[in-house]
Amino acid sequence: MNTAADIKKSVHAFNAEAARNDFPILHQRIYNDKPLVYFDNAASSQKPRQVIDAINEYYSTYHANVHRGNHFLSQKASAAFDDARVKLKDFIHASSEREIVFTKGTTESINLVASSWGRKNINAGDEIIVSGMEHHSNIVPWQLLCEEKNAVLKVIPINDDGSLNLQEFEKLISARTKFISVVYISNSLGTINPVKKIIASAHRHGIPVLLDGAQAVAHMPVDVQALDCDFFAFSGHKMLGPTGIGVLYGKLNLLVDMPPYMGGGEMIQHVTFEKTTYNEVPFRFEAGTPHIEGVIGLGAAVDYYNSLDRNTVSVYENELLQYAEKQLLQIPEVKLIGTAPEKAGVVSFTLEGINAMDAGMYLDTQGIAVRTGQHCTEPVMDRFCIPGTIRASFMFYNTREEIDLMIEGVKKAVKLLG
Ligand code: PMP
Repeated sequence: MNTAADIKKSVHAFNAEAARNDFPILHQRIYNDKPLVYFDNAASSQKPRQVIDAINEYYSTYHANVHRGNHFLSQKASAAFDDARVKLKDFIHASSEREIVFTKGTTESINLVASSWGRKNINAGDEIIVSGMEHHSNIVPWQLLCEEKNAVLKVIPINDDGSLNLQEFEKLISARTKFISVVYISNSLGTINPVKKIIASAHRHGIPVLLDGAQAVAHMPVDVQALDCDFFAFSGHKMLGPTGIGVLYGKLNLLVDMPPYMGGGEMIQHVTFEKTTYNEVPFRFEAGTPHIEGVIGLGAAVDYYNSLDRNTVSVYENELLQYAEKQLLQIPEVKLIGTAPEKAGVVSFTLEGINAMDAGMYLDTQGIAVRTGQHCTEPVMDRFCIPGTIRASFMFYNTREEIDLMIEGVKKAVKLLG
């Protein structure tokens, strides 16, 4: 938790207005001249000029396929591509760039582990643990694996405040538990889970852990070695980077033991019709021409984060969250869903007697982009016996003034639709 002094300091220490200047998309007016308020950052963040420029420069001056040609353009593109892998390694403090596998995003990263590590190591009767607050992309790949292998999926329950029930988690671990996959920060509740504790418990039983870091990397410094997670999955588009690119981090000893996941160019060493041998990691998992501009753009997003003081940014985002929650709670019809003590900048709420989708559509007419519905976490909605929530999710380029506009919009929605 940030102290009141921290928060006071951050409001002055972090210059959100200056940061906003780097994001061209934010400076537009929509629907009869309403300022655009973008509060759908948990779905996808906006992109700074620096990322857009890096992609533009690549296509305008040095586009070529990577690792294949020895001509000038290919060498330059390959160097930028390889350089980005090192940036990503440093960004999450992996011990080697070989531990960074480029994927399409969190979803593909989790599927890769379930398909490759899972198929090799999971057998009939084995158990896999996930939590009740997982995104569908950290549920379905494990269900597919369990179906194929006749294994069993176990679920850590959620407490009423949106935190995980750790006592029940401890009870779920058994001699049959072979893998644990949990979300670091919930995209629908905002809960920051005590993943270090979960990992330490798992490791006492020799069980590897995957963290779904989709919401974490954008909002807090991540150190995979300090966390000691075995796998860590995230998406570029939620952390200022392009869509269609993400990362699977895996401990090197685990990755080298894993079979390929897709076949094709780049992932092979030698191909004959009798026998094909496979490339070293991470290339073994990167079949085909990669998403080159995605990787270069993601490298630029890392550079952008490195230009910020991450701790000041975290404090600032937390201050936005606390301000939004406080203002929303002044409205009697509001019920917050997710009030765990440790939260990131996500506020999910319902309005008594009002359909979340209708409220979201009304806010949109006011220029305010929020997300409504289940947020790809249907079991969370079932747990709280609601069809969906209205979700505002913040980034460091958001401001208190924007939150005031949302509060005004919510009050009007209550009057109009209630
Ligand atoms: N996990 C979490 C916690 C998420 O928020 C998301 C995206 N909403 C995902 C996984 C899936 O990410 P992607 O669609 O980028 O693969």
